Amino acid sequence: MITTNNPFNNKDIETYKLHTESEVQEIIDKGANAFKDWKMKTIGDRTDMLNKVSQLLLERKQEYAELMTKEMGKPISQSIAEIEKCSAVCDFYVKNAAYFLADELIKTDAKESFISYDPSGTILAIMPWNYPFWQVMRFAAPTLTAGNTAILKHASNTTGCALAMERLFIDAGYPEGCFQTVLIGHEDIETIIAHESVAGVTLTGSEKAGRSIAALAGKHLKKSVMELGGNNACIILEDAKLEKHIDTIVMARMQNAGQSCIAAKRFIVVDAIYDEFIEAFKKRVAEIKKGDPMEMDTEIGVMARKDLVEGLEKQVEDSIKKSAKVTYGYNNDGNYFEPTILEDVKPGMPAFDEELFGPVAAIIRVADKQEAIETATHSKFGLGTMIFTKDLEAARKLISDIPDGAFFINDMVKSDPQLPFGGTKASGYGRELSQEGILEFVNKKTVYIK
Ligand code: NDP
Repeated sequence: MITTNNPFNNKDIETYKLHTESEVQEIIDKGANAFKDWKMKTIGDRTDMLNKVSQLLLERKQEYAELMTKEMGKPISQSIAEIEKCSAVCDFYVKNAAYFLADELIKTDAKESFISYDPSGTILAIMPWNYPFWQVMRFAAPTLTAGNTAILKHASNTTGCALAMERLFIDAGYPEGCFQTVLIGHEDIETIIAHESVAGVTLTGSEKAGRSIAALAGKHLKKSVMELGGNNACIILEDAKLEKHIDTIVMARMQNAGQSCIAAKRFIVVDAIYDEFIEAFKKRVAEIKKGDPMEMDTEIGVMARKDLVEGLEKQVEDSIKKSAKVTYGYNNDGNYFEPTILEDVKPGMPAFDEELFGPVAAIIRVADKQEAIETATHSKFGLGTMIFTKDLEAARKLISDIPDGAFFINDMVKSDPQLPFGGTKASGYGRELSQEGILEFVNKKTVYIK
């Protein structure tokens, strides 16, 4: 059984029966059968349906946003924005899929030779609760449009969202079996990965879950994409325009109650601007409006689960034991975690070494730009780095020094359907979104005609 719970008022929402072994088998078989017809459809047929998904998302925006907010506590305005972004990613692939998937002619000694981007089969998606619609849609829109079918194993605490998305694809006209939700514990995932009709697996979630699923994918020789945690550095140089960027810098950490893989987690601030930065940062953090996540003007709701609050508190406590100092916030109440500023953070503390998945800003003071870059890259993660500075030319010269999947100058790291998204090192591998994303789960077939 799975029981979902509203983290704002602690009331249970719904109880769901897990699928039995034979039901899971049926789901896999349905996916395999649907693939036979779905792969033969034209890209135009597929994008017509995706277009319908986009429309339905907008029509049902309020309903889906409320469901998300109820299940994981994010402010309703952010839930609405998430659904709009889901619609936008559909529109992006409606417009570009035919171009991305067109045969790629390559001149050789053959009469004709080219790459044909063929669908692979059923793809299993293991998804997290922090952006319950977006994380799924950014996988599903390109992957289905490339001609694959999909099985979603969503995070248990957002099961209502998982089932709503299954319904969404059915209502948009997708044939039965194209997009299905499976309700199982993560211990039972291997059966699906092992099945011959399942061609690949993608996971967005923790490093621990990633290591476990990547190992299973390796065991069964299945293609995998891993979008895991991050510990993004946000570098503030002496010449940063704080007045202009402070909103962005604060939201880069506090948005979604800090529960985002690409959030700014380590603020690396050069000495010359440190005091000015702290003052501006604190002032803006103090303005964040907490409240009932269902209210439109609430900027920070609650964290998604009690165990996540407790885990984060332990990381903060362990960092304090190693001489980090709380200089703002940390008056937590139930699942509400007050936006918190932690200063004097250093390597060796959880606040520096680990991902803090909540509204805690770890601040690190450094002497100069060189120390800032060394400190920023001192991480096992590699999702993204951001830097705030007036000197764009000097910032450009740092591009090759940043070993991450993204480098943002004067903005927060964010995902955009037009740009590839993914990490390096313990942040995973593979790319989502853009042309890169739609080509992750295709068979890049060489065709040679003499
Ligand atoms: P998990 O990574 O545990 O959950 C994400 C998804 O993976 C869920 O569908 C979950 O299923 C599944 N999962 C969990 N463990 C395994 C496993 N061993 N094998 C296969 N699948 C698994 O996230 P949590 O909710 O526990 O959050 C813990 C931490 O993970 C956070 O504090 C944060 O650091 C990180 N995280 C990162 C995210 C990102 O966007 N990169 C998103 C969410 C979390 P089930 O719900 O059934 O356990």
